[in-house]
Amino acid sequence: MQTLTMKFGGTSVGSLEAIKNVIQITQREIGSGNRVVLVVSAMSGVTDTLLSSIQLALGGDKWGYLSVAEKLRERHHDTIKRLINAGDARDKLSATVNKLLDEYVELCHAISILGEATPRIRDAITAFGERLSARVIATALAQNGINAKPYDASEFVITDNNYQSALPLWDITEAKIREKLLPVIQSGITPVITGFIGATPDGAWTTLGRGGSDYSGAIFAAYTHSDELIIWTDVDGVMTTDPRIDKRARVLPYVSYQEVGELAYYGAKVLHPKTVQPILNLKMPLRVRNTFNPDHPGTLITSESQRSSTIIKAVTAIRSVSMLTVSGKGMIGVPGMAGRAFLATANAGANILMISQSSSEQSMCFVVTDDKAEAARMGVETEFRAEIAAQNVDSVEIMPDIVIVTVVGSGMRGTPGIAGRVFTVLGDEQINVLAIAQGSSECSISFIVNEHDLERAVTLLHDLALEAVPI
Ligand code: ADP
Ligand code: ASP
Ligand code: MG
Repeated sequence: MQTLTMKFGGTSVGSLEAIKNVIQITQREIGSGNRVVLVVSAMSGVTDTLLSSIQLALGGDKWGYLSVAEKLRERHHDTIKRLINAGDARDKLSATVNKLLDEYVELCHAISILGEATPRIRDAITAFGERLSARVIATALAQNGINAKPYDASEFVITDNNYQSALPLWDITEAKIREKLLPVIQSGITPVITGFIGATPDGAWTTLGRGGSDYSGAIFAAYTHSDELIIWTDVDGVMTTDPRIDKRARVLPYVSYQEVGELAYYGAKVLHPKTVQPILNLKMPLRVRNTFNPDHPGTLITSESQRSSTIIKAVTAIRSVSMLTVSGKGMIGVPGMAGRAFLATANAGANILMISQSSSEQSMCFVVTDDKAEAARMGVETEFRAEIAAQNVDSVEIMPDIVIVTVVGSGMRGTPGIAGRVFTVLGDEQINVLAIAQGSSECSISFIVNEHDLERAVTLLHDLALEAVPI
């Protein structure tokens, strides 16, 4: 008997048809004698809707957030009515959904009255999406003969209080899962657990970051000692590029943890960047599969990179980023400049996505998300106040409207000429490259281009991923 942790994303639980597939997939695994742990996202679009209601409440738009709450109520009740037969189970579920949504409206009122939404209350609000969907899905599974029960991940995933991007406290989380969840699984129950959310040790709701249900799936897979983690989504697997950018994207049958880590970090939305962390050392196989095409084998992700016919496996892009440039003659040979700039950036709450420094050390640039660019700029300028006054450092420039494009493939390691090939392709098409960085793992090359070149750059490089260049 195997234990499988299966995570279903927003689209996979976002409609009646999708949930019916979830039921069939779960029945099939249980029918084959496997134990199943389910981790679910909110129905597609619900997290965005909840976030928008926070804005409405902040602006005092009571009618606005009440009508959002009504729409959420309608959507969930409509799904319930079409999915669950009339009777006690349906009545109980409907009452639970109403109670949760009433609680949610209370929190919106509080925001509206105070005119303030603390990070803590934001997480309490966004947690409702998964709290609702887990209950709907567990009841639907139970109606179909599966001994399923809903659980809030706040019972198990204990985190720090870094709201919106909370980090699990590993020891407590492991202990909670061992003490409270493993006995549930061993007793034959199929738990349906909320993805995305956790709680601080004193019980405040937290969330793991947008798209974080994949990460939740990996946490549960690791600590329930699952044999495999399956991420069920709306595409056939990890693809050579985002199919929304280039329709020719193909499914990659095999990818390594390292490659998928780079892909996810540099913008492939199909997996949250932290997903591989909890399962990496366990060498647990990770599969990405399509809820809407369950017979497709999907992508198998393991510690080994194997059986690829191309050196560049995939191309990704990150939008909505800005490049900060620090330059000045006084930077040459002065130790610690980069360290100070990065620390100031981190203190401004910005995560650095990419760094590039010219060999003369006259300038250094790094990339952060748009929303943090101004804070980072101010932080770095403050840090270098003395150097700027002495004209050793010029002011810190922000370049907006740029994107990071990344090519990924472990076959690049030790294969000379890949970077040359990449930049020749771009140069031939007059695409201006503003900065370049190669990971020390040599598994990826990232570079900055203007936003308006994104589609062209990705498509041209995607040609290289589609070409069968033998390794
Ligand atoms: P879920 O709701 O199941 O978590 P997401 O929307 O978060 O699904 O992620 C799946 C989407 O990721 C796909 O629909 C696809 O558009 C996008 N995507 C971006 N890059 C890739 C890639 N390299 N391979 C597969 N999908 C990708
Ligand atoms: N519902 C959350 C989000 O939309 C988490 C997830 O779907 O992974 O970000
Ligand atoms: Mg996702």
